[in-house]
Amino acid sequence: MQPTYAITTFGCQMNKNDSERIAGILSALGFVETTEEATADVILVNTCSVRQSAEDRVFGSQEKYLEYKKKKPNQIVAVTGCMAGRDKKREFLRQMPATDLYFPTPDMVHLPQWIAELRPDLVNSADLAEDYLKIHPLRAPSVQAYVTIQTGCNKFCTYCVVPYARGLERNRPVADILQECRELVAHGVIELTLLGQTVNSYKATDPESFAPQNPFKDHFAALLWEINQLEGLERLHWTAAHPNSMTDEVIAALALPKQVNYLHLPVQSGNNEVLRRMNRKYTREEYLEKIARIKAARPGIALGTDIIVGFPGETRAQFEETCSLYREVGFDVSYNAQYSPRSGTLGVKLYADDVEKEEKRDRWNVLQGVMEDLALAKNQAFIGTTVRVLVDKVTQGFASGTTHEMKLARFPATDTSWIGKCVDVSVTAAKTWVLECQPPAASHVDAA
Ligand code: SF4
Repeated sequence: MQPTYAITTFGCQMNKNDSERIAGILSALGFVETTEEATADVILVNTCSVRQSAEDRVFGSQEKYLEYKKKKPNQIVAVTGCMAGRDKKREFLRQMPATDLYFPTPDMVHLPQWIAELRPDLVNSADLAEDYLKIHPLRAPSVQAYVTIQTGCNKFCTYCVVPYARGLERNRPVADILQECRELVAHGVIELTLLGQTVNSYKATDPESFAPQNPFKDHFAALLWEINQLEGLERLHWTAAHPNSMTDEVIAALALPKQVNYLHLPVQSGNNEVLRRMNRKYTREEYLEKIARIKAARPGIALGTDIIVGFPGETRAQFEETCSLYREVGFDVSYNAQYSPRSGTLGVKLYADDVEKEEKRDRWNVLQGVMEDLALAKNQAFIGTTVRVLVDKVTQGFASGTTHEMKLARFPATDTSWIGKCVDVSVTAAKTWVLECQPPAASHVDAA
């Protein structure tokens, strides 16, 4: 019988892509994935440190693993990801009594050896990779795929654990990225999402790999151009961008034909003093100026952002400036968070967490209201238009997917063969978070 593994992934798409790399390592060792966690030979937990609640869930699940081990004492529980990355003194381990292996993400390359040490019956031999970014991710079959082009971050925003958990910025070579994208497209992928913590600050270690006719000098814009040349690819998306790395060329590259009509550009606050304390290194005015240039380069582009409310010292008036910036930009969507102090960050060392919980919740509610009002108005503008949807799900009588603006759209359907198809559908009604559409005419469907 083949050995089995179960992976639980917390957090962002980059963690999910890292889990696919871990799955790649284990499948090369002959393991198969199982949904039966209790009986798996190896349980992997890929953690996130962005919020305390995500870390608490990891601590909380240890009880369950101890129970599993009563029935299966040789089961291996491995914890990796951002918690292990930022916990240099391994202090969290004290709250993880069921854990056998505890390692930062890049150390996944040693997994075969560590499993062999604990369970020699599970591993015969293995080729160890030197760099985890060279490991082939094992992806579930899909027409959509995520490709990590960069990991780590040099920006040190004062609220953020990423530079500690993932280290300083590291970029993959262009040649490796293009090879991975080519293979994915050859296997039927039609939408690629490039991942990086500040993806648009990408710097190639092998710029000679760009084609001589590539018109861009900025490495990220040049990479987007290269990927746009891939025949068979329909949509290109990337996240998350940093406003300061939105160079003229990256802004120009937003108009490339396969680029989705959406940009996620985290602003975090609309007040200059709060932005300064967050160490975001731009002002409200500079952010708005970038947005104006983005809208000029790609008229009608949908915009998303991330916002933190209740950052230390943020007054109600300063928060109101965030709401006014939100309206001024006209964002389509925002991921709003209430500030939560993360140990090890500069924010904790420099500032007291002095905005009351209740007040944070109230500001969050106000901002959610601003967002929802605007989202509904923006969606209503699509009524009567035709949108192109990449269907990724058929459930509860509807086929659904996202438009080029990354808006959720759906139409009545029960046939799962819609999944993976691009369809042109007319919008008949709009809700805050969904465009209701008519089923497509047969001629408006592209097989993936
Ligand atoms: S840019 Fe700031 S928020 Fe984003 S990953 Fe880097 S430090 Fe964190």
